[in-house]
Amino acid sequence: MAARRRESVAVNVGGVMVGGDNPIVVQSMTNTDTVDAKGTARQVEELARAGSEIVRITVNTRQAAQAVPHIAEELAARGVSVPIVGDFHYNGHQLLKEYPDCARALAKYRINPGNVGPGQHHDKNFQAMIEAALENDKPVRIGVNWGSLDQGLLTRLMDENASLTEPKNARLVMFEAIVISAIESAELAEKCGLASDKIILSAKVSEVQDLIQVYDNLASRCDYALHLGLTEAGMGSKGIVASSAALAVLLQRGIGDTIRISLTPRPGGDRTEEVIVAQQLLQTMGLRSFSPLVTACPGCGRTTSTLFQEMAEDIQNYIRDQMPVWRDRYNGVEEMKVAVMGCVVNGPGESKHANIGISLPGTGEEPRAPVYVDGRMFKTLQGAAIVPEFIGLLDRYIESHYSKKEEDSKPLPVFSN
Ligand code: SF4
Repeated sequence: MAARRRESVAVNVGGVMVGGDNPIVVQSMTNTDTVDAKGTARQVEELARAGSEIVRITVNTRQAAQAVPHIAEELAARGVSVPIVGDFHYNGHQLLKEYPDCARALAKYRINPGNVGPGQHHDKNFQAMIEAALENDKPVRIGVNWGSLDQGLLTRLMDENASLTEPKNARLVMFEAIVISAIESAELAEKCGLASDKIILSAKVSEVQDLIQVYDNLASRCDYALHLGLTEAGMGSKGIVASSAALAVLLQRGIGDTIRISLTPRPGGDRTEEVIVAQQLLQTMGLRSFSPLVTACPGCGRTTSTLFQEMAEDIQNYIRDQMPVWRDRYNGVEEMKVAVMGCVVNGPGESKHANIGISLPGTGEEPRAPVYVDGRMFKTLQGAAIVPEFIGLLDRYIESHYSKKEEDSKPLPVFSN
């Protein structure tokens, strides 16, 4: 069981609550050119429909800032209400001032204190962004990243460390600088008048053990809501495993109010993968439920064909496609468990633990597939139509076991043969 959630101040991000007792929020980021308002709105919509509850976009140029209100209009026309966060580096203080429509259209501003300007410009530019947040009544995320750490602060801490009789390891000093950059920036924001319920912090690094160490430290020193993410996690399975390993440890310790999985998509790959991974991480840890989970065995020498793999995939895809409709229609359907197993060894047992499960025939077994419903053998399928027949049973199970949203959640008719 996960540790009790760390207490944090809840922040309203365009109607989505982050922190406090609220569910851990899934967020994502587009990789389109923000100047392409239609293309960016299209990707924001895809991410939102996949389940992203907040979407961040780059606002890096004047043209990008000009495009932001058009993106918001396009989304409204498409019926998409997901909060949009602007990601600013170097020129955010200018863009937010020069483009008030952009400042108004965004639900939150991400400020990187390492990229607001050097020396004497640092605090002035940072304060200008906080003033924009105050004027527009918006929250901010103070997002520190070790790839763009405030060099003035790092030099100061390194100098202080060097003067100690027993100096610490330089890497530890850098981790301390990351945490201090986040906390001192938040304190400066509060001094400028921004309330703590308008501030979210993040402190991203790209190594798993480092991230755990940095967030443990940060979480123990403040009660601001925390955004978790392993920066530059990488491609494919490496990115998924590294992000999951780091975030799972922190979430298990009760640390983290919103998460983003920073996956590098393959060329032409699907950006929504990062949303699915974030949801699956939270759901497999028992922290939230988003979509019915399919338990499938890995297959082995007992499976005679790829039929069961194809079937597990077909069912998973069917569930994903149907979920937007089911979520609007049925209470609690996201908690359903489905099992698709490859043979008699673990098939019946695992199927009995699921709400509905099927055990396909392995090598040397009768070409029959028993289906289990609520722990009991329900019927046996056979022949070429096993997949559509099982999907038909799945639809009937949902219809008969989950109350319609407009109705009371009273018991429904028993699933009958
Ligand atoms: S359930 Fe059967 S087919 Fe699947 S991995 Fe276990 S032994 Fe192999």
